[in-house]
Amino acid sequence: MIEVKNLTKTYGNHDALCGVSFKIANGKIYGLLGPNGAGKSTTMNIMTGCLAPTSGTVRINGFDIYEQAIEAKRLIGYLPEQPPLYEDMTPEEYLMFVAEAKGVHPELAVRQVREVMGLTQITDMKDRLIRNLSKGCRQRVGIAQAMLGNPEVIILDEPTVGLDPKQLVEVREMIRKLGESRTVIVSSHILSEVSELCDELLVISRGKLIAQGTLEELEAMTGHTDTLHLTVRGDEEGVMEVLRSIVDVSDCKTSCSQDTVSVTLDIPRDKDVRDNIFFAMADRRYAVVAMEIEHKSLENVFLTLTEDASGERADEDDDNTDSGEEELA
Ligand code: ADP
Ligand code: MG
Repeated sequence: MIEVKNLTKTYGNHDALCGVSFKIANGKIYGLLGPNGAGKSTTMNIMTGCLAPTSGTVRINGFDIYEQAIEAKRLIGYLPEQPPLYEDMTPEEYLMFVAEAKGVHPELAVRQVREVMGLTQITDMKDRLIRNLSKGCRQRVGIAQAMLGNPEVIILDEPTVGLDPKQLVEVREMIRKLGESRTVIVSSHILSEVSELCDELLVISRGKLIAQGTLEELEAMTGHTDTLHLTVRGDEEGVMEVLRSIVDVSDCKTSCSQDTVSVTLDIPRDKDVRDNIFFAMADRRYAVVAMEIEHKSLENVFLTLTEDASGERADEDDDNTDSGEEELA
C-alpha cells in the first residue's frame, strides 16, 4: 500500500503542490489525471524519491521514501516523463546497466532482462541503438526498465504522450497486462485515456487533489443532473411562470430574442420533465420550438471537477503527437 500524506512542494513563491494526500491499494491500476501543470510529475517524482518535497511524507508498504529509501525504492519501478535513456546503447545494454544499478544479481539480471524484453516486445530490436528506435519502442524500453527488479508498484508518467494510434494501443495493452500482477499508477491529462484503463482515478488540479474514486463515483460527485435547453415562443414572464410550476428555476439562464425565450437549466437526471413542460406550455398557448436534454459527458465531468478547482479550463493542451518517426521492422 502507498500512503501519501500532506505533500507540498514550493518553487520560489509558486506552490506546485499544496497538501496532497491519498492512499493507493495493492493490485489496481490508478490514473493520476489532471491538466498540464497540475502537479502530476511533481507528485510522481516525490513518490519515487527523485524529488524532495517541501513537506509531507510518502510511505511504500510502510517504508518512508526518504528515511528508508533503499527498502522503499526497491518496491517501485518508475518511468519518468522524460525517460533517461542512453541513446548510444542498445536496449539490451541499457537494461543490463539499469539492472546492475538496481542491484539485481548479475546472473539473475540476464534472465530478467530477457523476460522484460519479451513482455514489452522489444526482443526483436534489442541490438539496435536506442537513438534509432521510434518513440513507441523507446517508451517500451522505458517501461521495461521500470519492470526490472520486479517491483510491486509501477509508476508511469504520461506514458502515451506523443505516440501514434497504433503505438498507443500497444502501450495501453501493455499497461493493462502489467496491472494484472501489480499496482500501476499512470498519469495523463486526457480523461478518456485513463478512464478506460484505470480502476480508480485521482484528479489533481493546481497542486490539489480534488477527487478520488471510480469513474462512476466521480460522475456522481458532479451531481445527478442533466442540462435542459428549451426555446419557447411567448413572453418571458409567462414562460417562466409555467416553468416554475414544474422545475426549480432558481439557477437557470435565459435569453430572449424577438418573440422567443431560451432557457438553460439543470434538471434531475432521474426524472424526465419534458412531457410536463410541453403540455403545460401548450395549455397556455406557448409553442415549444426546441427542447433538448444534454447528458454530462465524461469530458464534462473532468472539466467540471478541474474548473471548480482552478477557475479556468482544463484543456490547455500542449500535446505533441510526433508520429513522424518510422519504426524499422
Ligand atoms: P504536470 O506534470 O501535471 O504537468 P508538473 O508537476 O510538471 O505538472 O508541474 C506543476 C507546477 O510546478 C507547474 O506550474 C510547473 O510550472 C511547476 N514546476 C515544475 N517543476 C518546476 C521547477 N523545477 N521549477 C519551477 N517550477 C516548476
Ligand atoms: Mg508532467
